[in-house]
This record gives sequence, structure tokens and C-alpha cells, in this order.
Amino acid sequence: MTCFDCVVFTFAGPSLKVISTLSVGYDHLAIPEIKKRGIRVGYTPDILTDATAELTVALLLATSRRLPESVVEVKNGGWTTWKPLWMCGYGLSGSTVGIIGLGRIGLAVARRLKPFGVKKFLYAGRHPKPEADTELNAEFVPIAKLAEESDFVIITCSLTPDTQGMCNRDFFSKMKKTSVFINTSRGAVVNQDDLYEALVNGHIAAAGLDVTTPEPLPTNNPLLSLKNCVILPHIGSATYATRNTMSVLAANNLLAGLKGENMPSELKL
Ligand code: NDP
Repeated sequence: MTCFDCVVFTFAGPSLKVISTLSVGYDHLAIPEIKKRGIRVGYTPDILTDATAELTVALLLATSRRLPESVVEVKNGGWTTWKPLWMCGYGLSGSTVGIIGLGRIGLAVARRLKPFGVKKFLYAGRHPKPEADTELNAEFVPIAKLAEESDFVIITCSLTPDTQGMCNRDFFSKMKKTSVFINTSRGAVVNQDDLYEALVNGHIAAAGLDVTTPEPLPTNNPLLSLKNCVILPHIGSATYATRNTMSVLAANNLLAGLKGENMPSELKL
């Protein structure tokens, strides 16, 4: 529990009965203390899956095809005569895509990437998913094998004590030098110092992050100085429609919780 949590619980006192979070992730909540106090929690799964999967695909393409860097080149006069290898990146066609955490969002990402001509999907997590194996010709593999064989590594798992810092020096050293790393889960799944080192030393080709530690990322963070790192301000679910739907669900969760009724979407603690 952080000091901030202590302060919130101390000020709220025993009258705090319900928490409603505008998110599917709940790693920001002090769950053991919440359980101890018998507080109910509402959250917003499913309805943000499509928007977050779409953003993940957008970030992957922006990173692998170097879109932000290309836009800057056009603006600053770096676009001169045609050169065969200028602004080249990596394409999805014929590639192997590895997804860590083939849950709601991970599966929605894979479904969107398949029509790009992905040759093979690998995934890692706690459990194999026979339905995904059949639908996507996907293979459940250990994380090390996923790192070694994937051209694109996409992180869509939840942040837990097991996944915290999971993408570290050892992980990046197993990836191909031509691989692209994408994280739209939570920043703390990645050891950012190790990621910086992997990007600077060419152990991996590029990274795209929608989530960082901390958030907002200080503007002097070394990752922001790298051309091969694309960083977004945690906008996975940020479409007008999705945020509106999330807000209505979060409000209904809260009202139901306060009335002692079944919440439309209650976190099972
Ligand atoms: P799900 O619960 O459907 O999926 C979570 C996945 O994490 C599961 O596939 C699970 O694997 C996997 N996982 C859990 N523990 C491990 C582990 N130790 N190793 C590998 N994989 C593990 O959640 P969602 O798909 O709805 O959301 C996933 C996460 O995305 C959220 O927790 C949140 O942090 C993040 N998110 C980010 C957003 C953004 O704006 N960037 C927006 C929305 C969500 P298994 O199925 O095998 O148990």
C-alpha cells in the first residue's frame, strides 16, 4: 500500500463502501486493504477492448514503419532526394507476432493483425487457449521462446507481482535485433532502464509504449531522446464513444454498489 492509499483510506474512514474505477486494470488499487475493509469495487472491462486493441495496432504500425520520425523529417527538410533505404522499417506480412497476455485485449489485437498477413502467432500467459489456437493458428509457448522467435512482441497482460519487471535485460537480450516491442498494458511490466539499453545498443529495433513509469513520463526521460522509441500518453481507450460508455458503466457500478445491489461490472475480489 502506498502512502497515497493510506491517506485516502484514513480520510475516507469506515464510510467508504464502494470504489468505481474508470478502467479494466486495477493495479492502482490497494486490493488487500480494500478486501480487509469489505469495500466493493466496480470496473469497466470489455467495453474498452476494441479501442485499446485498435490503438495497439496503430502504435505498432507507427513504431515499425517509423511514422513519427517520418513526419518530423518532412517538417524539418530531411526529405530530399529518393533513397532506397531511407525511412525503412519492418512490415507485418509474413511475420511472427508474439503476444504476452492473450486476454480480451490481446485476442482483439491478434484478430486485427491477422489480415495484415501475419504468418504465425505465438502467445504466453498462465493458460493455453485452445479456441485461439484454432481461430488464429496460435501456439502457446514459454516467454523465452516467444522473445526469441517473434518479429513483433506485444504486451497486453495485466500488471501483477508476477508480471512486474518481466520485460527486463534478460528478456530483451533474447529478442531478435530486428524485433519491435510494443507495450499497451502497464508501464511497470517493463524495466525501462533495460529497455533504454536494448534500444541504444541495438539489441532490439524499436519500441512503442502507450504506458510508462511514471505517468506522465518526465520530459527529460532518456527514452524520449531516442528516434526508435515511440511514446504515447496512455490513450489506449481514448475514443469519445468508449470513454462515454466507460463513464456510464462506472457511474452505474457506483450507484448499484451504494444501493447494495448487483453492480453491472463488479471486480471479484
Ligand atoms: P484480461 O484479464 O482479459 O487479460 C489479462 C491477460 O494477462 C490474460 O491473458 C492473462 O493470461 C495475462 N496474464 C496474467 N498474468 C500473467 C503472467 N504472469 N504472465 C503472462 N500473462 C499473464 O484483461 P484485458 O485484456 O481486458 O486488459 C489487459 C490489461 O490491459 C489491463 O490489465 C490493463 O492493465 C491494460 N489496459 C491498458 C489500456 C491502455 O489504455 N493502454 C486500456 C485498457 C487496459 P491468462 O489468460 O493466461 O490468465
